[in-house]
Amino acid sequence: MNSIKENLEQIKTSLAEDVTLVAVSKTKPVAEIMEAYNAGHRDFGENKIQEMTEKWEQMPKDIRWHMIGHVQRNKVKYMAPFVSLIQAVDSLKLLKEIEKQAKKNNRVIECLLQVYIAKEDTKFGLEAEEISAIFESEEYKNFKSVRIVGLMGMATFTENENQIAKEFQFIKSFYDQLKNKYGLQELSIGMSSDYQVALNHGSTMVRIGSAIFGERNYD
Ligand SMILES: *Cc1c(COP(=O)(O)O)cnc(C)c1O
Repeated sequence: MNSIKENLEQIKTSLAEDVTLVAVSKTKPVAEIMEAYNAGHRDFGENKIQEMTEKWEQMPKDIRWHMIGHVQRNKVKYMAPFVSLIQAVDSLKLLKEIEKQAKKNNRVIECLLQVYIAKEDTKFGLEAEEISAIFESEEYKNFKSVRIVGLMGMATFTENENQIAKEFQFIKSFYDQLKNKYGLQELSIGMSSDYQVALNHGSTMVRIGSAIFGERNYD
């Protein structure tokens, strides 16, 4: 089995210079995340606010923490002091809470809107019309401490590469429509099993966990 450092290096060789690799460290202990840190890695993704906050407390402060999971509004306050990018925003109500907490911390917090692209109803996300409505809302236009910098999507969990490619193509075309109008810079698509497909469809940010840290245990 390869070390975490070797896995990181191997994945990075397939990424263009301007693609960000978010190492998804959920469920993994600090010691293992430090191996990636010591290999020079700084972007880490977690899907639970409490777990991310505990790791933030224990780890070097130059890490950029990405919240990639579904966010409950009442927990935004715990990550507002330090979170780098909230990747899975799925409502204007949530943006409003992020705006409030960012302001309290004298920060501007960057976010991605999660687009619903999968053929599974277990996944969260917004439809295209809902996203346009958020960008065009007076409320969002008046926000000063929260900024939407891109889109995030998760493809269907399937072996069918055509299906995955279709879903990534959909989000990529939608991203291209919005990009100049709203100044977007990030398209976060691609995980361990499908990041090569995502890179072929304009991904600027991949979120990779098991291919770096190994399989996760959930018991
Ligand atoms: C866990 C997770 C990932 C990483 O999954 P792997 O298959 O381990 O690469 C990426 N994105 C989200 C939103 C996740 O929850």
